[in-house]
Amino acid sequence: MEKTIFAKILDGEIPTEILYQNERTIVIDDIHPQASIHCLVITKTPYKDISEMDPEDFFYVHDAIKKIAALKAIEDYRVVTNKGPAAGQTVFHLHFHVLGGSELGDINS
Ligand code: AMP
Repeated sequence: MEKTIFAKILDGEIPTEILYQNERTIVIDDIHPQASIHCLVITKTPYKDISEMDPEDFFYVHDAIKKIAALKAIEDYRVVTNKGPAAGQTVFHLHFHVLGGSELGDINS
């Protein structure tokens, strides 16, 4: 199976600034930001989506979210993960969007 863009970033094949990392995740800026702050917490394990994730990874995802929010100095933020094409997933390597730094639209509208 062909490597995803995030697997290539993790393997150093696509030079990308790593803003933060812990044992199980890395954090990068999204290349097409949807808010003034838009980071991606990417699991080092290439899970296709959240349904495959080891629940123990949540501990590291939680740490990464809190660290990147502190680094970017955002108090209010939104965390989103898309599971499957109908939900908007385009890269099939688990990641969590962290959006903030500006007023975010109503997620229900
Ligand atoms: P999703 O649509 O939920 O799968 O999110 C994939 C995200 O990856 C999108 O927001 C893209 O803008 C972002 N993205 C794609 N390629 C790159 C890249 N090389 N560096 C950073 N973000 C990327």
